Amino acid sequence: MIDLRSDTVTRPTDAMRRAMMHAAVGDDVYGEDPTVNRLEELAAERLGFDAAVFVPSGTQSNLIALMSHCERGDEFLVGHAAHTYKYEGGGAAVLGSIQPQPLSMRADGSISLKLIEQAIKPDDPHFARTRLLCLENTHHGRILPLDFIDEATSLAGDYGLATHLDGARIFNAAVATDTAASEIAEHFDSVSVCLSKGLGAPVGTVLCGSTNLIDTARRWKKVTGGGWRQAGILAAAGVWALEHHVERLQDDHRHARELARGLEPINGIDIEVPETNMVWVDLPPETLSKLCAFLEQRGIMVSGRDRLRLVTHLDVSDDDVQRVIRAFDVFFQGV
Ligand SMILES: *Cc1c(COP(=O)(O)O)cnc(C)c1O
Repeated sequence: MIDLRSDTVTRPTDAMRRAMMHAAVGDDVYGEDPTVNRLEELAAERLGFDAAVFVPSGTQSNLIALMSHCERGDEFLVGHAAHTYKYEGGGAAVLGSIQPQPLSMRADGSISLKLIEQAIKPDDPHFARTRLLCLENTHHGRILPLDFIDEATSLAGDYGLATHLDGARIFNAAVATDTAASEIAEHFDSVSVCLSKGLGAPVGTVLCGSTNLIDTARRWKKVTGGGWRQAGILAAAGVWALEHHVERLQDDHRHARELARGLEPINGIDIEVPETNMVWVDLPPETLSKLCAFLEQRGIMVSGRDRLRLVTHLDVSDDDVQRVIRAFDVFFQGV
C-alpha cells in the first residue's frame, strides 16, 4: 500500500515506538508527567516561546488558543479556506462564542492587507470586538510568504489585535525555506504545531505562547476534556519527532518534486509545482474518479474530491514515488 491521502497516516517508526515504550510517565493533569513537561519545554524552545502545552489534536489546540485570546462576543479575522474557519466544526463559535470574520484568501494563504484593515471593527456596540488575526502556514502545502507575515502581523499590532498562527505544518515551511521555525513564529503571539502530520508522531499537537497565555490555554484544555493522565507515552513520540524528524522533511519535499516532475509530461493533466509535501493535480472530473479507482486497485490511495492531492511523508519511499508515476503512465496510456 502507498498511502498519499495525507501526512496524518504515518505510523510510528520502531525507534519512536521504543522511545514511547520506555517513556517516564506521571499524571499530566497534576503537571507531573516528566516526558510531557520535557516535550513542552522542547517545543517552546524550538518555536522561541516561553511556554507550550501538549494537547491531543490540532483542532483542540487552535480552539483553546482562540478561547484564550478572545472572550464571548469577540471576533477573529481568518481566511475563508483556513482550517480554523472551515474544518474545525465551527468550534470557536460553537464552544467559545467567538465570531469568525472570514476573509478571502489567496492560494498561498495570504490575505489582502486592505481587506484585513477594512474588517477591523470600530469600538461600537453594533459590532463584535475584533480581537485576533489568525493565519495558516503552510496552507494546502503552500508557504505563507514571510514579507506578508511581517506586514499582516504589524498591521494587526497597530490595531491592538493579537495574532495566532495555525502552524500545523510550520516545520515544512521552515525546512523548505531554510529558515528557523522560530523566525516564522516570532511574528505571532501563539503558534500551534502538529506532531502527528509530517513529523510522524501518532497523536498530538503543541500550542506555544507566553506563560500567561498558556496558563489560560491549560484551563480551556481541561474544560474541553483534554486533561489526560500518563500522556508521556505520547509525548515521547513528540520528543522523538522534534529531535529526529524535522530535517528529514526535506526528503518529503524532494519526493513531492520528483512526483510532480514525473507526472508533468502526461497529456491532459495540470500540475502545480509543489512548495512542500503536497502535489495538486487538476483533471476533468470523470477522469479523476476513474483514476482514483484505478490507483486504488494498484494499492495507491489518494485523496481526490475536486482536485487530486498527493501528500508525501515519512512512509513514502523513493521506490514508491516511481511506482506511482508508472501507475499514472499506465492509466493515461489507456485513456
Ligand atoms: C491537520 C490540521 C489541523 C488540525 O489537526 P487535527 O489534529 O487533525 O485536529 C489544523 N490546521 C491545519 C492546517 C491542519 O492541516
